[in-house]
Amino acid sequence: MNISVSVTFLGTGGSVPNKFRNLPSVLIRRGPELFLFDCGEGTQRQFLQARAGINRKMRILISHLHGDHVFGLPGMLHSLSFMGRSRELEIIGPKGTIGLVTSVNRVVKLYNRFPIRIREVKPGQSIKDAEYNIRVAAAQHGIACLAYAFEEKPRPGRFDAAKARRLGVPEGPLWKELQSGKSVRVGRRWIVSKLVLGPPRQGVKITYAVDTRPCASVIRLASGSDLLIHDSCFAESAARKAKEYGHSTAGEAAGVAKRSGSRMLALFHISAMYEDALPLLAEARKVFHQSILPRDMETVSVVA
Ligand SMILES: [Zn+2]
Ligand SMILES: [Zn+2]
Repeated sequence: MNISVSVTFLGTGGSVPNKFRNLPSVLIRRGPELFLFDCGEGTQRQFLQARAGINRKMRILISHLHGDHVFGLPGMLHSLSFMGRSRELEIIGPKGTIGLVTSVNRVVKLYNRFPIRIREVKPGQSIKDAEYNIRVAAAQHGIACLAYAFEEKPRPGRFDAAKARRLGVPEGPLWKELQSGKSVRVGRRWIVSKLVLGPPRQGVKITYAVDTRPCASVIRLASGSDLLIHDSCFAESAARKAKEYGHSTAGEAAGVAKRSGSRMLALFHISAMYEDALPLLAEARKVFHQSILPRDMETVSVVA
């Protein structure tokens, strides 16, 4: 089965919203499954507009507990509840995430009609699933801040249906066996899966690293990413500000993309002081040509 992976940038700004950019939130869709990275104010509206579905298997991953990354969380939970979510939702974040959700819920009832599981994670840990892992590393931002790498495990090789037919394997359960790497018997012959199955294909890797200075742990985490989403808060002219506030310039983000061997860079968490952020894109492209400057609600399909 070919599962598609896409990234929708729900909000691409940082700190405060402006007319053009909402606060940070990125939606990864992998087949029927959803991953929401950060939840800035107003995310629920963008999420609904993206028509991602309200009752899917879903995780929300929080990078750090600065307001622009979490103030949308109560609204998101409230809206999902109102709209009829019944399935469990998992929230993953740094230490303090449990306190945040439970204390809001204590004061303002969130109408949670679905179970919520909250998991606090540390750099070096992984969230494991059958077909992918999400690795956690430290970002460098002044307060505890996590960067995440979503990594699919290798996908099975392509199945050559025509050849399977030629070899006399009838469509049905035997095809499934071959696709899972097993040998099957047809009459008096054994057919080994290698005959009809190509080599395993690389899975998709997406790294999400905001708010952060360029740093070695993010470069290591992002190694070989198909898409790196990186803090690009400022232009070169505000490099001092970037350093002071624990952010990166677009050029620095491009440096991380280059050094990590990533294939594409999305400039993200753009400061509200830029109405037109095109100069940031130009600066990034000087260092790393495969840079893009997504606007809110734009989607990128990611392939390995
Ligand atoms: Zn921020
Ligand atoms: Zn921050």
